Amino acid sequence: MATKVNKPKAKRAETSKATAEGANTVEAKLVRLMKLGSEEESERILGMLKSHGLNKTQVLAIVEAIYREETEIIFGAKVIKGGLQTNQEDLMDEADLASSDIEQGMNMRMANRENFKVKRLHRALDKIREGTYGECDSCGADIGFARLSARTIAELCIACKEEEERKENLSAVGRKPKSLGHSLGSKLTIR
Ligand SMILES: [Zn+2]
Repeated sequence: MATKVNKPKAKRAETSKATAEGANTVEAKLVRLMKLGSEEESERILGMLKSHGLNKTQVLAIVEAIYREETEIIFGAKVIKGGLQTNQEDLMDEADLASSDIEQGMNMRMANRENFKVKRLHRALDKIREGTYGECDSCGADIGFARLSARTIAELCIACKEEEERKENLSAVGRKPKSLGHSLGSKLTIR
């Protein structure tokens, strides 16, 4: 009886061990990190992102950075230090990222659900899965690794971002306070 109960447990341990010690290709790492169904899915994602100018190593570095940023926000502290590292030796072990500690941080994760940055990070991950990551939301141009590595949640290329900021600065000059503008309407005079 006891062996019967233990058997599935042992089997599961073997399976996870095999996964942890699995191939160290970018495809295999992405499967474990993003909990993808298969390496074929990794290949599909990497293929789509390649068309946005991101190579495999760059995609992996960005995904690791996104999870690192998320972890830092969820735990409210810099538990994992360092910015985006492109040196393969320094890249975080994805096993650390996917560790049960993070799973156990689910309660904290729930508390942070409204966190804007976390939402943006999750949106970035969704875009990676969909293969639209790295594409400017406004003009469709490649955002580029340099900008994305500095700001993983960037959704506009630098040209569109600058254009947006320029417009914001221009409109800020004659901007009425929203509530006043609405309630007072024509009574509001600009001097
Ligand atoms: Zn653009």
